[in-house]
Amino acid sequence: MRRTLIAGNWKMNGSFAANRSLLTEIVAGLPASSSADVLVCAPAPYLAQCADVLAASPVAWGAQDLSVHAQGAYTGEVSAAMLLDCGCRYVIVGHSERRAYHAESDQLVAQKALRAVEAGLKPVVCVGETLEQREGGQTNQVVGAQLDAVLALLTVEQLRNIVVAYEPVWAIGTGKTATPQMAQDVHAFLRQQIAAKDQELGVSVQILYGGSMKPDNAAELLSMADIDGGLIGGAALKSADFLAIVGAV
Ligand code: 13P
Repeated sequence: MRRTLIAGNWKMNGSFAANRSLLTEIVAGLPASSSADVLVCAPAPYLAQCADVLAASPVAWGAQDLSVHAQGAYTGEVSAAMLLDCGCRYVIVGHSERRAYHAESDQLVAQKALRAVEAGLKPVVCVGETLEQREGGQTNQVVGAQLDAVLALLTVEQLRNIVVAYEPVWAIGTGKTATPQMAQDVHAFLRQQIAAKDQELGVSVQILYGGSMKPDNAAELLSMADIDGGLIGGAALKSADFLAIVGAV
């Protein structure tokens, strides 16, 4: 049985003061008997703060990106080893904002996923189509190619440590959520593709949904057979909303 993962992606938001309140409220408000794993992905300068505030809690923390390089003369980059040093267990790779604004290719994203698993981090590999691609009937082709780059580069053993997140670009930060059935259809397609690489992997890999997941739509999305959690942007910045989504599991 796959566990449910509720992950917050703070994107480029936060401050020491605001994070302290948010994290403290999340820890204090976690349902006592939740079956969900909870994760927050903070900007790199705040990962040590997450380690400090969350160390004794069940909440995991992770980063939003990592360098494809191991170390050295790469000004501005943050390595997998540094993330591990900050206590991260997860790292987002291939978020659509990085694909769009930093021209990250499917191949680069796959190499980052490899770098993460080699270091002992779990990459949350994001895939998703734009509105134009959906309207052009290319959704499966686009997300299929994005996932395929990762499936081709990593071994089955390494793939046991990845999480996939389906985030339709048109649903991110827009208030437009994919209907549960639309999301389920893509999740089922992605799972099939993973299973084609390895049957057992198809059963075990967690696939999260992201894109305007909120307290009022979370329960329905999370009830779908192939949706194993959420990657939450805006609603992860308010403790009440984030906790309500955790509570919807
Ligand atoms: P929103 O929940 O704000 O739509 O963001 C989703 C997202 O991009 C999470 O990675």
